[in-house]
Amino acid sequence: MSFIPVNEPLLNGNEKKYLLECIDTGWISSEGPFVEKFEEQMSTRVNRKHGVAVSNGTVALELAISSLNLESGDEIIAPTFTIISCVAAIVRNGCVPVLVDCNPTTWNMDLSQIEEKITPKTRAIMIVHIYGLPVDMDPILSLAKKHNLKVIEDAAEMHGQLYKGKPCGSFGDVSIFSFYPNKHITTGEGGMVMTDDDYIANHCRSKRNLCFQPKRRFIHEELGFNYRMTNLQAAIGIAQLEQLDQFVLLKRKLGGLYTQLLSDLPNIQLPLPKTDYAENIYWVFGIVLNNINAETVMEMLHQRGIGTRPFFWPMHKQPVFNKMGLFLDEEYPVSEKISNYGFYLPSGLSITPTQIEIVAENLKAILMEGK
Ligand SMILES: *Cc1c(COP(=O)(O)O)cnc(C)c1O
Repeated sequence: MSFIPVNEPLLNGNEKKYLLECIDTGWISSEGPFVEKFEEQMSTRVNRKHGVAVSNGTVALELAISSLNLESGDEIIAPTFTIISCVAAIVRNGCVPVLVDCNPTTWNMDLSQIEEKITPKTRAIMIVHIYGLPVDMDPILSLAKKHNLKVIEDAAEMHGQLYKGKPCGSFGDVSIFSFYPNKHITTGEGGMVMTDDDYIANHCRSKRNLCFQPKRRFIHEELGFNYRMTNLQAAIGIAQLEQLDQFVLLKRKLGGLYTQLLSDLPNIQLPLPKTDYAENIYWVFGIVLNNINAETVMEMLHQRGIGTRPFFWPMHKQPVFNKMGLFLDEEYPVSEKISNYGFYLPSGLSITPTQIEIVAENLKAILMEGK
């Protein structure tokens, strides 16, 4: 039996056709026509005025924060249970990350902890939709309004997801997506900043392209970056976006199948299929074990030919931030628990129902044996 990887993308739409078009026409850099087309199509899809395509989701977050013109020492509230890109982007912009724990059932940031973390220096809330279920946006938006805070929305895991019928990625003053191969749509590597604000969009466009100036290209008023997306990446992105609705349906089917197969297993927590504001799109199918370390079970699954990935490791436990003097002695028990006991099962778009059955059977066998 061949190994079942934790993720394998599905590239059987127009990806090859559009890529060949790039090669046939010679447009392979960021100058090609697909980049702008991809930005327009994403903006339409997410219901935003602007999309700025960049080389990955991590730099999209960096640009998003930089576009808010915050001052050194300004505070941004963010979840501790997330990928490092979020807090790295805050730190790299000279701001101070202030963390909150996550909710034990949705794994999204605990809304009840945000207000008490607001100080006179707080400028923004970074919300991160985790693993397929959106954050409950309405309370966040009213809190932000009440305290005059910007909202940065990390929708990297939320392509095609809706919150109360509106697209995720449409809520932040500035929002971002990633197109890494394990996301619902991919460009290999890639990301996008989305906003309705002309200033933010122009700032990000300029910064992504070395702050070249329209009139005298090589005279610079500011320091930028080369964060450009290539036409080759955008070609794949356009082909993927054509299939997004199908991909969401497929992911929901895979999530539903796992839920059905694993629901009678005692002592494990499965992802919430839905809340009263959204239905899970299962970016990944995460599980949290009761009393057995995730690592042990992941190793046993690996020996049986099944790939897995551990949950995010909380930001307050990151040696790199602790060495900077950040988050010392802070405790966020829910994130600490799920990061030790949680991991996710294979659920890439290329997985077959038979493979899911194999994964479920093996997981059951391991957990039952352990009793
Ligand atoms: C994947 C991801 C990112 C980073 O995107 P890259 O394209 O891999 O840099 C940022 N935030 C979240 C929540 C993610 O899942």
